[in-house]
Amino acid sequence: MNFLSTSTDLALFGGEPVRSDLLPYGRQSLTEDDLQAVLDVLRSDWITTGPKIDEFEEVFAAYVGAKYAVSFSSGTAALHGAVVAAGVERGHEVITTPLTFCATANSVLYQQAIPKFADVTEDTLTLDPSQVERLISSETKAILPVDYAGHPAELDELHLLADREGVVVIEDAAHALGGRYRGRSVGSISHMTVFSFHPVKHLTTGEGGMVTTDNEAFARQLRSFRNHGIEADVRARKTTGQWYYEMNTLGYNYRLTDIGCALGLSQMPRLNKNIERRREIAALYREHFQGWDALCLPFVRADSDSSWHLYPVRINLKVVRGSRDEIFQALRAEGIGVNVHYIPVYLHPYYQERFDGQDTSCPVAERSYKELISLPMFQSMTDEDVQDVVTAVGKVIQYFS
Ligand SMILES: *Cc1c(COP(=O)(O)O)cnc(C)c1O
Repeated sequence: MNFLSTSTDLALFGGEPVRSDLLPYGRQSLTEDDLQAVLDVLRSDWITTGPKIDEFEEVFAAYVGAKYAVSFSSGTAALHGAVVAAGVERGHEVITTPLTFCATANSVLYQQAIPKFADVTEDTLTLDPSQVERLISSETKAILPVDYAGHPAELDELHLLADREGVVVIEDAAHALGGRYRGRSVGSISHMTVFSFHPVKHLTTGEGGMVTTDNEAFARQLRSFRNHGIEADVRARKTTGQWYYEMNTLGYNYRLTDIGCALGLSQMPRLNKNIERRREIAALYREHFQGWDALCLPFVRADSDSSWHLYPVRINLKVVRGSRDEIFQALRAEGIGVNVHYIPVYLHPYYQERFDGQDTSCPVAERSYKELISLPMFQSMTDEDVQDVVTAVGKVIQYFS
């Protein structure tokens, strides 16, 4: 293996690092045209609640193959909107995965409802339908799977359960824009699908999010919810220039700006190329790391295409001497911006204080958490960047083997 030719002294112990600058685990890539699109909006009459909103929503809905797309000020706000549209209220239960960013479960808490954590499957680390089934009760209102790392959850199985129980599936696809499942595009499958436009995601508006749906009533509720609970339809019915409007429910100001929408819109034509590059990087990693018994590589089901928001590997702790944390530190010292996705949500202090003593144990998620390291994955990574990651991982794993 060619990494043996490089220094075997770990940077952690004062050796030469593989990189002098830190390669991040994810980052945005914007062009001059993207910046120009933002400037054009800033020079126009509408910097928020203007024409770019509808334009971005229409293009986005068409891209994922949904009837409606409703933009929000963040992915978290979009999740909150979807949970509200699903009718989740105080005391209701929503079944979700612990292996996610805390915002997924927090959106349930915003409604004074209860997130119930079901374990994930060993292969893709997405919600295990049989574990979901165990947790269904008369209080269950929704199932909230996450397309972990960009790999779609077992959506057909979850929908079968949801239809049987008469509950809503809200898919957290913050990782999975451009993903595909059994011939269908993520965003066109679940009752509501939620996306995030944070800078590490596939497309960015700075902060921003979107809910896609085929259900007109959901779309109407989502639009009202992001705008203080004011029905746009009521406005539309009035002649333009009239001051009258009605607030019918309690909503929030969760609107995305025209500035953000113009930025998002400008990146849409490059989205497929971006995802294609991520697939290439995943293939390069697989090519290099295949057969290393110290690493368990992310699994892709035959019926799915991941859009590779993350490249999470699991360290085989039976094979290496160190812990995940030691390996993590060693990789950071080599200039590789690894990360960990995720601390199981119910292990956070806020959740521990509230759910302590309740049966939240998800052994697969907890064990995976101790093994997980996300390697850098973003569209503008060069082949040399990938090689640096391979070299650094080789150097570190060799030391700990
Ligand atoms: C990024 C992310 C969110 C939240 O999105 P924001 O736009 O940062 O609010 C929600 N869920 C998951 C799984 C995410 O990765």
